[in-house]
Amino acid sequence: MAGLKVLVVGGGIGGITTMLALRQRGVDVQLYEQAPAFGQVGAGIQVSSNAARILLKLGLGDALKMVATYPEARDYRGWDTGERLYYTPLGQMAEAQFGSPYYAAHRAELLDVLLSGLDQNDVKLGARVVQIDQDANGVTLTLSDGETAQGNLLIGADGIHSTVRAQLFGRELPRYTGNVAWRGLVPAERVAHLDLGSVVGVWMGPNRSIVQYYVSAGKTFNWIGISRSSEPARESWLAEGKVEDALAEYDGWHATIRTIIAATPRVLRQALYDREPLPDWQVGRIVLIGDAAHPMMPFYAQGGAQSIEDAYVLAGCIAEARDRPLDALARFVRMRQPRTAWMQGLARREEELYQTNDAAAIKARNEKMRANRSPETATFPPEQVRLYGYDAEVELRKSA
Ligand SMILES: Cc1cc2nc3c(=O)[nH]c(=O)nc-3n(C[C@H](O)[C@H](O)[C@H](O)COP(=O)(O)OP(=O)(O)OC[C@H]3O[C@@H](n4cnc5c(N)ncnc54)[C@H](O)[C@@H]3O)c2cc1C
Repeated sequence: MAGLKVLVVGGGIGGITTMLALRQRGVDVQLYEQAPAFGQVGAGIQVSSNAARILLKLGLGDALKMVATYPEARDYRGWDTGERLYYTPLGQMAEAQFGSPYYAAHRAELLDVLLSGLDQNDVKLGARVVQIDQDANGVTLTLSDGETAQGNLLIGADGIHSTVRAQLFGRELPRYTGNVAWRGLVPAERVAHLDLGSVVGVWMGPNRSIVQYYVSAGKTFNWIGISRSSEPARESWLAEGKVEDALAEYDGWHATIRTIIAATPRVLRQALYDREPLPDWQVGRIVLIGDAAHPMMPFYAQGGAQSIEDAYVLAGCIAEARDRPLDALARFVRMRQPRTAWMQGLARREEELYQTNDAAAIKARNEKMRANRSPETATFPPEQVRLYGYDAEVELRKSA
């Protein structure tokens, strides 16, 4: 079928990457995004080697390198004393081992990098999809203003509150994970005296943690604190938080952390949700990707990376079976569901490790971590090898 046409619902990291990957393979694709303009929350995002490998394949390597930072390691610290607990390599060691760089970036800049590869004619903004229908010949989507569009396949890349998912599998609310995320961006000069180093810093305490790193080519310092909370602020998916509240949340923490929070001009507070793995993401000509398919907790910094992997693999499956598009979607789900279900489970287990309040568990955790805290002997734990070593191109060849 020469004239295969693909409709993508949602212009987040997953939807835009899908569009780029499909276009690279010469597939006709149109994207529908509900917002009047593309946007990402003001925060940082780690672009791990498995995701960066794909962005490089899409020709975005130079643009990404310009805006990103290149952390040398992941450096785990105790919340009160700042003692080093654990140390795993990134930087050149990650690039040598996994064949692609590990970056950290400002979300808006990552989005700009992705958008730089797009043909704006293939994008419809202010386009909220309210209904999807399919028959033996194709799919039809309907927008909130009544306009319709037809295609051969439809990809639901519309995030954790996915409309496409609700229509395919029922309107089930995501699970509140019992955690909220605090996010802040600080001009680098305000924290320069803290000598924070070129690392992803991970501070672990009872009930809460903080991850931090430079973004915007080193001009901005980003931090994300995750704390257990029985008040998920359900009324608001993403709300303005208060610096005083964040300081109260991190009361008694090391002076470095408190100084960073106090120097933050604007804090965001967001309740964290996930879902159980879904066994299948395809119904006929329609399939889900990214957070619509497999939302996960952020402890491995992998949600975006997995949506990028999805995008590339899906484009490969579709392009390699243009005359059998339903088989292409089935192959995509077979390739991707087990890995992302594993990730969803791993992220939940990591939540227990990071956020526990149990003194004995914290003691045991810290003792285990201390066995691997020397930068000289630092190596990659097995789950990182499995995560960062994933090469979507190789996986496509293996499953051909
Ligand atoms: C605190 C935190 C830290 C994180 N850190 C990292 C990290 O370091 N690295 C990493 O890889 N991941 C990280 N993640 C995960 C990552 O942010 C998400 O997994 C990723 O953004 C998902 O992308 P997506 O494209 O699937 O969905 P989204 O980004 O949610 O995009 C969905 C898009 O669909 C649009 N949409 C929704 N409904 C409709 C509709 N009906 N019609 C049209 N458009 C619609 C939305 O407007 C939106 O633009 C983190 C997440 C959190 C919460």
